[in-house]
Amino acid sequence: MRKIQLLLIFAAVIGCAAYVMMQRETITDDGPSSQAELQPPQAETAKLSELVVERRQVHRGELLLIGPGHPVPEVDQAVETVNLYANQQLLDGFGIMDSDIELPTELLERFTTMVGAAKLDGITNFLVTSGYRGKALQAELYATNGPEYAHPPGFSEHESGLALDIGSKQGKMESAEEGRWLEQHAWRYGFILRYPPDKTEVTGVPYEPWHYRYVGLPHSAIMKQQGLVLEEYLAQLQEQGRAEIELDGTRYEVSYHPVEDVTRLTIPEGASYTLSGDNVGGVILTTW
Ligand SMILES: [Zn+2]
Repeated sequence: MRKIQLLLIFAAVIGCAAYVMMQRETITDDGPSSQAELQPPQAETAKLSELVVERRQVHRGELLLIGPGHPVPEVDQAVETVNLYANQQLLDGFGIMDSDIELPTELLERFTTMVGAAKLDGITNFLVTSGYRGKALQAELYATNGPEYAHPPGFSEHESGLALDIGSKQGKMESAEEGRWLEQHAWRYGFILRYPPDKTEVTGVPYEPWHYRYVGLPHSAIMKQQGLVLEEYLAQLQEQGRAEIELDGTRYEVSYHPVEDVTRLTIPEGASYTLSGDNVGGVILTTW
């Protein structure tokens, strides 16, 4: 009799323990999955930071449209440049056409990053044929070469510090492997072939296989993906209001905002962003 009692108690204890364990298992199983389905609290996502954009910012940034009707904006400070001939240690993977070539510090950094990547692919014969040009230098070039070959002073991307001419020591860019490499990969480094052969009617400029313009990521990627030149990209942004692209697992959202006087933009709390004017009438906000 006592044995039976003990067995019953034992069975009851086992039963209770099993029940508790099952309950625990249920809780631990349910826990993570139900939590994963939860939306973050509204207060977290609703927190926004405000960006005040003034009219002058329409004429600042990396997406400026420069060309006929859209002059290079006057800047408050002189562009800080580096003379490449005086800094021979920088000439790694590329040469220079003459001793006067200067590049703005930021553009130089971006260019050498790109050239460094090309070097890993065995492409090492780039030749910088023209870099930053002040208004006086552009005027000189225009006087010498005429409107067929140069933009009038005040209207060249070279004066903005965002463009440079890249050739090849091995021949013409349109057939040299340096040119082919840039056409395929320059977008990864924020550069675009500014005057491609099939867009001369849009740009109003003949094919220039050497002229590369910095617009930055993700814009260079979107333009490359959709086959757009800067004129088309900016017009599309203005018309559609926005664009987006995913690059290496990061989702970039691009939006266009007209700026009359002062415009207030909201940016998600904690998001990274860049802002650039279009040099026409608005700004482009990029968040990720
Ligand atoms: Zn050029």
